[in-house]
Amino acid sequence: TEPLLRINQLCKHFYMGRGQTLKAVNNISFSVDRGETLGMVGESGCGKSTAGRTILRLYEPTAGEAWYGGTNIYRLKPGQLKAFRREMQMIFQDPCASLNPRMTIMDIIGEALDIHRLADNRSARRKRVEELLYLVGLNPEHSTRYPHEFSGGQRQRIGIARALAVDPKFIICDEPISALDVSIQAQVVNLLKDLQKRLGLTYLFIAHDLSMVKHISDRVTVMYLGQIVEIADSGELYSEPLHPYTRALMSAIPVPDPDIEADKERIVLSGELPGPLNPSSGCSFRTRCPYATSVCAEREPEFQETKPGHHVACHLV
Ligand code: SF4
Ligand code: MG
Repeated sequence: TEPLLRINQLCKHFYMGRGQTLKAVNNISFSVDRGETLGMVGESGCGKSTAGRTILRLYEPTAGEAWYGGTNIYRLKPGQLKAFRREMQMIFQDPCASLNPRMTIMDIIGEALDIHRLADNRSARRKRVEELLYLVGLNPEHSTRYPHEFSGGQRQRIGIARALAVDPKFIICDEPISALDVSIQAQVVNLLKDLQKRLGLTYLFIAHDLSMVKHISDRVTVMYLGQIVEIADSGELYSEPLHPYTRALMSAIPVPDPDIEADKERIVLSGELPGPLNPSSGCSFRTRCPYATSVCAEREPEFQETKPGHHVACHLV
C-alpha cells in the first residue's frame, strides 16, 4: 500500500550571513504508513523540529519533496494550503507556551473550529468542544477555565484536543511528553495510542531520547546533525542497533529496561558536538565516534539497507 506521507531528499537550510549556512535538515528521506507511528529521535539541535515544521510547510523547504497521499505539499497554493492544514496538525512540547493564557479552554479549542468554519452556531461549537474534552479525558464542565488552572499533563491534553478539533489524519507530535513528569508521560503516551486506534491517526513522534518513543513507535528513525543515520522497526532497533550513535543513545537510556542490556557495551559520547554550520567532511559523527577510522574522514557513508526495512549510514556496517 501507498504510504500516507513520503519525504524525499528534504533539505531545510538557513542562511546565517557571512556566507555561512546552517544545514538544519540535510537530505532526509522516509515514509510513514497509514495508521503507523514513526518515532524520530536525536539530540536537541539535530533538526527534528525543523523537519516537522518543514513537512507541515510552516517553513518552506530549501529542496526536496513531501507527498501526502497524492498531494505534493510544496506545490499547494495558499488557498489549498489552508484546507490541507486540516489533514495534518502538530502538537508541541510546551503546552503552556502554545495556549493563550487569557483564553478559556472553550475558546482555545473553539478557535480551531472557527478558523475552518466547522461549527454552524454557538451551541454546535460548545457541543463539539465538550466532546473533544471528553475524548482526551478532561471534564467537559471545565471548559470555562483558563490554562493556568490545569496541570502540565492536563494542558497537554488541551493541546491534543485543539489539534483534534479539525479532524486531522496525521499528527506531528513534537516532544509532547518531554516537559512532563515521568509519571505523567506514560498517561499521555497511552492517550495518544488510544486516540490513534479510535480515530485511525498516523503519527510522527519526535523525542530527544529513545526511551520516550519506545512504547509508541512502530518504527524509529535516528537523526544526527540534520541527517538520518538509522531507521528500523522498533523491535529491531532496540535489540540490534547498528549505528554507533544509536548505540550511544541506547546506552544513555537512564531507566533500567530489561529489553536493553545497556551496560553490555556502553558507549559514552566524547568530543565536541560539531555545529551543523560547517560540517566536517566524511561521516558527520566521526568527531565523536569511538570506531572512526581514516575512511570515515574521507568519505560520507552511504545510507544502505542491511535487512529489509533496516537502513543505516556507517562504513562499519
Ligand atoms: Fe563512526 Fe565511521 Fe561509522 Fe561514522 S562511518 S559512525 S565515524 S564508524
Ligand atoms: Mg525541538
